[in-house]
Amino acid sequence: MASLPVLVLNSGSSSIKFSVYEAGNGERTKLVEGAVDGIGTDLGKFWIKDANGKKLVDETPALPNRSVAFKLVSDALHSGTFPTPLAIGHRMVSGGPTVQDNQRITPELIDEMESYTAFAPLHTPIAVYIMREALSQFPGTPNFVILDTYFHRTMPEVAKHMPIPSEYAAMGVRRYGAHGISYESIVYQLEPKVPEKLIVAHLGNGASISAILHGQCLDTSMGLTPTGGIISGTRTGDIDPGVLIFILRKFVDAGMTAKEAADQLEIVASKKAGLLGVSELSNDMRDLRDAINAGNAKARLAVDKFNWTLVKWIGSFVAELGGLDMLVFTGGIGENDIAARGEICAALGALGIIVDPAKNNIRGEATISADHSPVTVRVIPPAEDLIIVNHVVRLLSE
Ligand code: AMP
Repeated sequence: MASLPVLVLNSGSSSIKFSVYEAGNGERTKLVEGAVDGIGTDLGKFWIKDANGKKLVDETPALPNRSVAFKLVSDALHSGTFPTPLAIGHRMVSGGPTVQDNQRITPELIDEMESYTAFAPLHTPIAVYIMREALSQFPGTPNFVILDTYFHRTMPEVAKHMPIPSEYAAMGVRRYGAHGISYESIVYQLEPKVPEKLIVAHLGNGASISAILHGQCLDTSMGLTPTGGIISGTRTGDIDPGVLIFILRKFVDAGMTAKEAADQLEIVASKKAGLLGVSELSNDMRDLRDAINAGNAKARLAVDKFNWTLVKWIGSFVAELGGLDMLVFTGGIGENDIAARGEICAALGALGIIVDPAKNNIRGEATISADHSPVTVRVIPPAEDLIIVNHVVRLLSE
């Protein structure tokens, strides 16, 4: 096919990111990228950049809801300024137990994925909304769902299974993992020399870590939902279930109905906890670093807790992998927070992870391990859109 513009749509709880790639004749050239951010606020952001980083659109519109936000994206893509997409790839965090393969989207498939909203409560509602809008606003254009859980499908049963009564396992309750497209993109970028024993730490506002053996996922920190695993910006990560029962009982004692109590518990565990909950200040690592520099003890505790859980998970994944060849940091914190990388690795020297402080003093792609370090430590930005485009092109040809 001569020209094949592919649109990638990637929605978060308050943002819609998009990019258009030229993917004809084996090409993978990014033509434009953009985002609407701050959905639900009076002062949102809407920008579009060309391939050279030149801003084509830079506005601060009111974004009262996702409908207004997606209309901005759709209008821009229909304006004739950019190539009309011939295929669309949607990032999806979880399609539940029955939608595990990347595939063409139909209205029935959207309904099916929506029925598993509880498996990614912050992400699924906006993702399915955008899928329905894209089907109606780009009629005849094939739309595909590309799942974060796809990369984690290779986990052995012992890693996937949760220690719960089997009636819940039969409902699909198990470890699915998240950030799979990011992990896939790191393995892709390491090809053809993917280290046998690899750990990737995706440290963004949502944070997770995966153990990867021979290029395939062996284990990952996030569980049924992205709330599990290591501590994130606003999420607890793994926590004694007794804590959740304790809080739930407090809500019930205060007179809430069962549904109100469950909804409130979800807000506590996924929007009010994590770095924000411990610091009582912010979920943003940059704010916490500023506060630490100003002597804020709670911010210090939050960041220490973050590093501590990472050290625990990395240690246990080294044990699962039977050693380690390479550790990769990615995501906003992984790429930019020099101190976090240094602090985490300083605690892991006994496992052969030795970072050179001079090499670590960098933002973006780099090898930061010391020359004598038995384990190579790298920083690699994810290339999620590229992976989505690759899947779309493959599925188009099937
Ligand atoms: P992401 O979700 O991948 O966009 O990552 C967002 C996280 O990266 C936030 O916690 C940011 O504070 C963090 N981050 C971005 N830039 C920096 C920086 N220069 N130093 C420390 N953290 C950063």
